[in-house]
Amino acid sequence: MWRATILTIFPDMFPGPLATSLAGKARARGLWALDCIDLRDHAPDRHRMVDDTPAGGGPGMVMKPDVVARAVDAVGADARPRLLMSPRGVALTQARVRALAQGQGAVIVCGRFEGVDQRVIDGRRLEEVSIGDFVVSGGEIAALALIDACVRLLPGVMGREESAHEESFSDGLLEYPQYTRPQLWEDRPIPPVLTCGDHARIAAWRQVEAERLTRDRRPDLWAARQARLTGAKKGPPKA
Ligand code: SAH
Repeated sequence: MWRATILTIFPDMFPGPLATSLAGKARARGLWALDCIDLRDHAPDRHRMVDDTPAGGGPGMVMKPDVVARAVDAVGADARPRLLMSPRGVALTQARVRALAQGQGAVIVCGRFEGVDQRVIDGRRLEEVSIGDFVVSGGEIAALALIDACVRLLPGVMGREESAHEESFSDGLLEYPQYTRPQLWEDRPIPPVLTCGDHARIAAWRQVEAERLTRDRRPDLWAARQARLTGAKKGPPKA
């Protein structure tokens, strides 16, 4: 079973929002599992200290390498990747999420304060993963986002209703715009093509819209897709 093991000083934050909705139901059905290790349980001193002042000076505190290492070692070696949530990490993508979902789970270290002593990142080969170019106050929220993204892709978690096949990033494109009833809302109609009943025309419209949105909003994704298509066809991309 897919299993997330979280190393944190705030185990009360889990499962948190993952107890509800799709992820919560899936966990109740035994489709994935979650366990938390309290980093403070691995602090050797009686004050359960997990942090100390930064070498070289400056504000804030740094998580101690010995405490994090003891907690990581307590998990033991298994096939799961060991991740450290970190704004310095490689940015999480849907492709990485898909790969993680196909594996056996993840061991996830949640940073706090100014971060984690570099020596335990190196010594325990923690792979730094970022959820984007912004800073949240702890790795817990980042870990929740990562786990949610993985869990929804596990077999049996999403029904046909919530199918992941055509959503954003599945084909390197952002998703086309969505509409629902009423047909006319505040003088704005649903695009007529969506109510014409011709599935081929609808699919073509959605493809054009997805490409338009991606080109306008995410030139980085668009360029990567064009390069991929060009490479695959060994010719120039069609205009
Ligand atoms: N001083 C650090 C930020 C520390 S924020 C720096 O400037 O890089 C405290 C913790 O929150 C981090 O150790 C990390 O675990 C988590 N965190 C903050 N932003 C994150 C992000 N974008 N992605 C993943 N984790 C993040």
